[in-house]
Amino acid sequence: MFRSTVAKAPASPLLAYFDEVLSAADVDRVSDALAVGLAEGGFTHGDRLALYTQNVPQYVVALLAAWKLGGIAVAINPMLTPREIAKLIADSTPSTFLSLRELYSEELAGTLAASSVRRVITTSALDFQTSGDTRVLPTGRIPTPAGTEDLKTLVAQHDGGVPDPVEIGTEDVAVITYTSGTTGAPKGAMNTHRNVATGGTAYRDWFRLDSGDVVLGVAPLFHVTGLSGHIAAAIAARAALVLSYRFDVGVTVDMIRRYRTTFTVGAITVFIALANSAEVTADALSSLTKIASGGAPIPAATVDRFESQFGVYVHNVYGMTETTSPALSVPMEARAPVGTETEALSVGVPVLSAEVRVVDEAGAAVPVGQLGELAVRGPQVVGGYWRNEAETAAAIRNGWLLTGDVGYVDDDGWYYLVDRKKDMIVASGYKVWPREVEDVLYSCDAVLEAGVVGLPDPYRGETVKAYVSLREGFSVQPQELIDFCRARMAAYKYPREVEIVDVIPKTATGKILRRSLRTRSES
Ligand code: AMP
Repeated sequence: MFRSTVAKAPASPLLAYFDEVLSAADVDRVSDALAVGLAEGGFTHGDRLALYTQNVPQYVVALLAAWKLGGIAVAINPMLTPREIAKLIADSTPSTFLSLRELYSEELAGTLAASSVRRVITTSALDFQTSGDTRVLPTGRIPTPAGTEDLKTLVAQHDGGVPDPVEIGTEDVAVITYTSGTTGAPKGAMNTHRNVATGGTAYRDWFRLDSGDVVLGVAPLFHVTGLSGHIAAAIAARAALVLSYRFDVGVTVDMIRRYRTTFTVGAITVFIALANSAEVTADALSSLTKIASGGAPIPAATVDRFESQFGVYVHNVYGMTETTSPALSVPMEARAPVGTETEALSVGVPVLSAEVRVVDEAGAAVPVGQLGELAVRGPQVVGGYWRNEAETAAAIRNGWLLTGDVGYVDDDGWYYLVDRKKDMIVASGYKVWPREVEDVLYSCDAVLEAGVVGLPDPYRGETVKAYVSLREGFSVQPQELIDFCRARMAAYKYPREVEIVDVIPKTATGKILRRSLRTRSES
């Protein structure tokens, strides 16, 4: 797909980052040079390249360089701490690690030194732009840390070089994208080249994107929304993708104005933040005529408010890491109905090649209107998890991915979500798995038992709350436990509230009764 975009429209803009623009041919040349540099270090077909960056051009360049060698990218959330990264690295065993300089630390260096990683490349967020926008970018250029190579130097050394052609199959893994699960252990979804191409073309065709469009990249690139809805969609449509490090209202509005962006997909918190900001006018957003939001429930009132302020309707889109982003969405010219069972908006109808059904415990389809688990099949669904047959067998039955989401379909074919079978918490669109937070709490000497749940929150959608019982003889304040977690995990995961209780309610088999903890908070 990328090669055809370069061949058909080499001079058209493909990546914009603050004040700089790279054409398709520029991106091809830089990724070729990086690929040659990687190959020189022994990187070859099937090898893994870990990407630990914000939304910068280097993410896309490195992704393409890995693909040109038949390699696999490992997408790592830039909010993760070295402790969390260590688990992903142990699972995916990359040979090469690309890190933004400001994310690189001595602790991370130690983690990588003790892992499969043989080569560390670091990069500056100030490369590929000259604006030096201090609202989000680091204020100064950080020197290349010892033991690492600078990406731009590596590219300059190999400028003009072209990697040897490699045969890449549609079923080859393109990206390993991590999710978690009930056990708290990371699971690497294997998004193949077919999955990614399907995700990108699904966005392109559903939202009718073409080379006249400009994609605003507000979703993180490490997540499948960024992968399919930004990178692959822009390449498929031969449209430019605008990146600006991380989401910030002021910076995002400047990017919309500068590049007249037409399409975006992001978490609903992005659109809430834009609507709540006094500096955002309808005029500023006037070019943005196609908006999608997914990853978290969308209240109808939020969509109404956004539309009355800015005159543009937010289309719900439902997908998972395992469906390489879109599985259901609201068609461009339609408006999502509100469900009868919930106040929530419908998540849409199956997109293009996706098949979706509602199934019972035995996996059989249930009648229209009846609750069941959503199951998805199609070319965007992953074949499984990286080196994890047990989780693969649990999630995918006869080609149908069991989503863990509970919902129904109405007479007109609209799908609705009403509940989750899985324990996942959705905080600001980010997914938090209670077991991961509980495991950190258990590593504190004072903690006897811990139970973590999601509670409704007006801005974050849900927020993380931990119930903790203490060992005899220990005394600890809730704030100390919050700080303990904050030091050990990504900012979106740590509990915002901790309540110390005498006992954590459990079933006879020792499973935490999360429902009972949740209702305790509501009552
Ligand atoms: P992830 O793998 O991080 O993309 O998370 C996927 C999960 O996010 C799904 O299983 C749903 O629980 C939730 N989700 C995705 N899209 C929506 C949506 N439009 N509305 C409500 N929940 C959603």
